[in-house]
Formats: sequence, structure tokens, C-alpha cells
Amino acid sequence: MRPHLQRALAAKLLEQFSMTHGIRPLVAGNWKMNGLRDRLGEVAAVCEDVAAGGAGRAEIVICPPATLLMSVANLCGNTPVEAGGQDCHAEASGAFTGDISAEMLKDAGASYVILGHSERRAGYKESDEVVRFKVKAALRAGLTAIICVGETLAERERGEALVVVGAQLRGSVPKDSAPGSIVVAYEPIWAIGTGLTPSQKDVAEMHGFIRERISELVPGQGAALRILYGGSVKPSNAAELLSVKDVDGALVGGASLSSAAFMGIAGYYR
Ligand code: PEP
Repeated sequence: MRPHLQRALAAKLLEQFSMTHGIRPLVAGNWKMNGLRDRLGEVAAVCEDVAAGGAGRAEIVICPPATLLMSVANLCGNTPVEAGGQDCHAEASGAFTGDISAEMLKDAGASYVILGHSERRAGYKESDEVVRFKVKAALRAGLTAIICVGETLAERERGEALVVVGAQLRGSVPKDSAPGSIVVAYEPIWAIGTGLTPSQKDVAEMHGFIRERISELVPGQGAALRILYGGSVKPSNAAELLSVKDVDGALVGGASLSSAAFMGIAGYYR
């Protein structure tokens, strides 16, 4: 079958599936540059809790630093919990000292990779184009890409949040990404690690906008697309944020380092 027909068929099947079963929520933990081997007990505890039904119908992913990826993947091996990377290079291999390719993440046991996180966009000057190439690499390697977008506080205050996120989506999301191969995480930069969160109204507006924009940019993607909210999610505000329309899960930073806090968030879906 021709690739475009294959994609159209996959889109149709996914749309039908999501219409019958609803979108399966995703709760992903981004450990950032935190965690030595002595923190692997937290992963084991998450796996145990998820296996016992602690996350209900939600899918759970843990994205540790690269040094722990294989250990996390091994620990999660026979459980429903998945492992993910936090970044990848666009090339499959080569003279790129210090970098890790999507194929390497896959080989280490990852099934997801976070791309375009605001800390990488700001700290490593990653443009939308760079993020898009990385997303293409992730899809090439068979990983699901969690693509992060979000505005600064100044942009929100100037009323530019939708414009900024719209441009990030246009630049960062490959137009031929197959349904199910990408997840979008809306992470207002001013909410990351600050304890601040947007109002339910602002979250609903942004998530609805993202679904609409992705439907226009990538035919067949919008309806079944998982859109995560990220930024200071913790057990005490999980219900408030995760109950908002078009919020299909969370990308969790700080609170994902503790199995109790992480599962306190994922437990919303029990
Ligand atoms: C993040 O950096 O992806 C994040 C959501 O961080 P935090 O939960 O700590 O705000």
C-alpha cells in the first residue's frame, strides 16, 4: 500500500478508535538532570503501583537522564510503564560528541522522547526547525515524540500566547507525522518549576486551539491527538488541571521524582 494511503488508513482507524474508546490519557515524568542509581527504587515503586491499577486507564512514561535510561527500561520491562528520553540528535549516528540519537534511545529501551522542551529551546537555542528535525528522527526510530510548546509570561501578558504557540506548532510538527506518533505538551514557560499555573479557562482555550491547529497542519491528527498540560502539576492541583476539556494527561517535572507524588497525579485517572 502507498505510504499516504497507509497514513490515511491509520488516521481513520485511530479516529474510529478514539471515538469509541476515548483518548487514552498519558502521564509522563521528566526527571531532567536529576537522579543517580539510588533513585531507581522510585521507578520500581511506580511500576508496582501502576501494575496494581494505580493509574487507571492512563499510560505512564518515565523519562530519566540518559545514564539511567537502560536501567529504567529494564525495570519497567514486564510492567505497563514505558521509558523515554529527554532529547535526541537528528542524525542516527556520526561525529557528534556528547549527543545521543533517537535510534540509541530506542536501543536502550525507550518508546518515547521529549523534544523541544523550553529548557532546551532556551538553553541550547533550539529553533522550531531543529525541533522538527529531531521529531522526524524520533519517528524514524519508532519513538513517540512528546513535542513541547509554550509561551513566556511576557508573551502571555501581551496577549500573544496563542500566536506564539501556533508558530511553534507550525515550525516544530512535521506535516507528515502519522496519527499516534506525536503527543503535544503545552507547557507555559512561566509555570515550569514555579508553582504557578494558568487558569482552567486559559488551559482550555490553549488546548482547544492546539487541537484545532494540529487538525489543520496534519490531516487526520487532531481528534485523537494527546495534548498534555505541563507546569507545576502536583497531586493537590492534578484534578483541577486534568479535568479541563482537551487535557489528555500531564508532563510532570519536579513531582515525578517522587513515586508518591507522581502516582498522586496519575491516580486522577483511577
Ligand atoms: C517540565 O519541566 O516539563 C515541568 C513540567 O516541570 P515542573 O512540573 O517541575 O513544573
